[in-house]
Amino acid sequence: MIDLEQLARAQQAIVAAGDELYRAGQVPATGGNFSVRLDATHMAVTASGRHKGRLTPADVMVTDFAVTPLGSPQKPSDEARLHGQLYQDRPEAGAVLHTHSRAATVLSRLIEGDTLWLEGFELQKAIEGVASHDTALAVPIVDNDQDIAALAEVARERLRGLDTRAYLIRGHGLYTWARDMSGCLRQVEALDFLFDCELIMRRTR
Ligand SMILES: [Zn+2]
Repeated sequence: MIDLEQLARAQQAIVAAGDELYRAGQVPATGGNFSVRLDATHMAVTASGRHKGRLTPADVMVTDFAVTPLGSPQKPSDEARLHGQLYQDRPEAGAVLHTHSRAATVLSRLIEGDTLWLEGFELQKAIEGVASHDTALAVPIVDNDQDIAALAEVARERLRGLDTRAYLIRGHGLYTWARDMSGCLRQVEALDFLFDCELIMRRTR
């Protein structure tokens, strides 16, 4: 049984996140998707194709982690599968945000390997579990794929055993998760700032 008050809070948090992230240029042109964990097997997640700057609570649906809708005729985004997988594999994930920012899109294309290393930036500490600017922050990168089932498997393998709160899909965008929505929003903001800094450093090198 889904707790309806909890669902309403999750819907409000997702609507507010959409407004904030759209204004910040993180989710242009209906891109991105957002979710909140409801219980051990369900999440509230944005329905397919919605403009993220103009969400209403009705645009946020309930599915299980295998993305089967619960009591909704709406279709979840294909990428909701990547959210469900994170909730299955990562007990620390209470909210997941997927964004398509310019910096994440460009920087992930500039990196040839499967990891972006960020080091020496104070704002690394905004990521859960990071205590110092001194430790290198590894952001795994996976190649983009329109076959979401295949992409999900590649991402699951790439993240296996890693203590991380984010990964990049090359030329596509960022996935990040945290205990709750406010932590997750902080991470989107911090990571995008770090991606921007890294891009500027690379340009001036
Ligand atoms: Zn996407």
